[in-house]
Amino acid sequence: MARYLGPSCKLCRREGVKLFLKGERCHTPKCALSKRSYPPGMHRWRRGKRSEYSLQLREKQKVKRFYGILEAQFRRCFAEAERRKGPTGEELMAMFELRLDNVVTRLGFAPSRKAARQLIRHGHIAVNGKKVDIPSFVCSPEDVITPRDKEKSVNLVKRNIESIRFNQVPSWLELDESQPSGKVLSVPAKDECSIEVDTNLIIELLSK
Ligand code: SF4
Repeated sequence: MARYLGPSCKLCRREGVKLFLKGERCHTPKCALSKRSYPPGMHRWRRGKRSEYSLQLREKQKVKRFYGILEAQFRRCFAEAERRKGPTGEELMAMFELRLDNVVTRLGFAPSRKAARQLIRHGHIAVNGKKVDIPSFVCSPEDVITPRDKEKSVNLVKRNIESIRFNQVPSWLELDESQPSGKVLSVPAKDECSIEVDTNLIIELLSK
């Protein structure tokens, strides 16, 4: 009998890419995508070539699901990226990567972006010493991210850092486990982002 797949794993199988929605499990051989990489359902193989539009849409959906971003938020970020001086694709990915929920995840303060959003919304995280409970808050270089100075927050974050064995802190972040605290050292470059994306496809789609 086919094993029941949760909605998160079904999303990964549909997109054909690991979206890391389930924390530690995603980094083990138990990951559903490591076992079977084809889409769920009986009719696995789609006939014909994918249209240009479907490739563009798929790339956008992949990013939205990976970072847990809603459509309106995505469009706002895209408009902001277009206004900035740098290449739109790079600006857009840097903005997503610098979101507080992503930074908290990459520092190992939480096992997944979903768990990070919960940690932030419940008021356990501070940026430069001030509580920030908005997961979409965009961090800047030199920002210091810590658990709030409440015993419960510190213990929660410490427990997560100790138990998350798969985490690798990227070079644009610095982690001090003893505090614990994390610092944003620089704006992440495109090849330092958590997910590989063809941003040209997204730009083509949203510029229509
Ligand atoms: Fe499931 Fe693997 Fe996707 Fe994680 S990466 S949500 S375990 S399919």
